[in-house]
Amino acid sequence: GNVSGDSIRQRFLSFYASRGHKVLPSASLVPDDPTVLLTIAGMLQFKPIFLGNVPRELPRATTSQRCIRTNDINNVGQTSRHHTFFEMLGNFSFGDYFKKQAIQWAWELSTIEFALPPERLWISVYKDDHEAFQLWSQQIGVPAERIKSLGEDDNFWTSGATGPCGPCSEIYYDFHPERGYTDADLGDDTRFIEFYNLVFMQYNKKDDGSLEPLKQKNIDTGLGLERMARILQKVPNNYETDLILPIIEKASELANVSYGISDDLTKRYLKIVGDHMRAIVFLVSDGVVPSNVGRGYVVRRLIRRVVRTGRLLGIKGDGRGDLDGAFLPIIAEKVVELSTHIDADVKNRAPRILEELKREELRFVQTLERGEKLLEEKLADAISRAERNGTVPCLAGEDVFILYDTYGFPMEITKEVGEERGVSIDMNGFDIEMEKQRRQSQAAHNTVKLAIGSGANIVDNVPDTEFVGYDSLYCNAIVAS
Ligand code: ATP
Ligand code: MG
Ligand code: MG
Ligand code: MG
Repeated sequence: GNVSGDSIRQRFLSFYASRGHKVLPSASLVPDDPTVLLTIAGMLQFKPIFLGNVPRELPRATTSQRCIRTNDINNVGQTSRHHTFFEMLGNFSFGDYFKKQAIQWAWELSTIEFALPPERLWISVYKDDHEAFQLWSQQIGVPAERIKSLGEDDNFWTSGATGPCGPCSEIYYDFHPERGYTDADLGDDTRFIEFYNLVFMQYNKKDDGSLEPLKQKNIDTGLGLERMARILQKVPNNYETDLILPIIEKASELANVSYGISDDLTKRYLKIVGDHMRAIVFLVSDGVVPSNVGRGYVVRRLIRRVVRTGRLLGIKGDGRGDLDGAFLPIIAEKVVELSTHIDADVKNRAPRILEELKREELRFVQTLERGEKLLEEKLADAISRAERNGTVPCLAGEDVFILYDTYGFPMEITKEVGEERGVSIDMNGFDIEMEKQRRQSQAAHNTVKLAIGSGANIVDNVPDTEFVGYDSLYCNAIVAS
């Protein structure tokens, strides 16, 4: 049927366009907001309107927003539904319609436009939001057994430690209705997938944690395109949708394997490559340059993880004289090919993107092999030392630092390789080494604690916090998960 990823995006936007929403373009992954590192949700470009800092130009809008969530990096390939890069479809009301209308349209979109069977849909609401519960049960007619009241962690959405926020209500799809109602747990992702979140944006969270009512009540929603594609295309996970599988197939071809008949570990590696390559191409397209600070470190870390994962898959970038052995540009070409409806600018920027990826990959490969050898030695040392002492194997902070500083191994990669061998890493020791180096090289530089919110300018603070902060930074940025 008509369920390609591109058509789902189009149908969502048309559905809301025909209900008075103006279709607006996605904002850049680099937000126009110094308190946020990267665009994590569709609402970000509208934050000043929600806060009442700028007047609204329109009452309603709808977008397909490209997003990056690095807090989900370790979920990539582990869960069936998380990406670092994904598209969030959204409908927004700026002081126009509110809860009742938002719920009504979300239900029509799900059950009529996308024809999901109503009996497979479950709802979560915020525990104190009796109004939302009533609307779902009375207005829509969802049986009370399929509406779960959840706490702040799940159903109170905030865009950061401070800023616009409110109770939310999520729609879940049930893959196994035959399992019945008893003990059904929306967090059980072998059974359910959350696909649509409706945020009733009505407060501004202040520095002291208090909630101040916004001047207007707003609607902010997010529907994961890859998740809807996975439901409608009836594939086991987001990665096997037409939005990502062609990238995985390109990587499989280079690795000389076949995704469909691969073992779980190979599949996981291919999913990492498929996921990260999208994030990398769209980040570089939006002007992020690999570096050791801020956004640049996010993209560098993703690139290095793909290079290393590619080696584990046996990918060799041979055959293309112009690439000097690099393989990222070959896979990136596939991402570019699929980019037309995600971001029309990527095609024009492709030559610059591919050149940047080639340069960064080759730079990393130069030191990678020496580093890999050193890391293997250090891991073997740690394991035999632990055996002698009857302790748990742990890699010294100094070693992690040398790998980072001299061999370009992001701390997270060392940690990941260590975990594969059952060796933990001494994070404290690593922090101490980083701190030592910082004191030597930047004696005059002001150290500012990573604090999101409080109007702190994260982008400027990041050089001081890059090695500890990224994942927790994004966790902070999304309180409800
Ligand atoms: P989850 O609980 O599955 O991690 P979430 O509650 O963190 O999702 P929201 O912040 O509510 O997600 O974002 C709105 C929608 O965006 C989600 O309902 C989902 O469809 C989609 N989404 C969120 N995070 C991701 C991700 N990492 N990859 C793909 N889609 C995502
Ligand atoms: Mg949610
Ligand atoms: Mg959630
Ligand atoms: Mg989440």
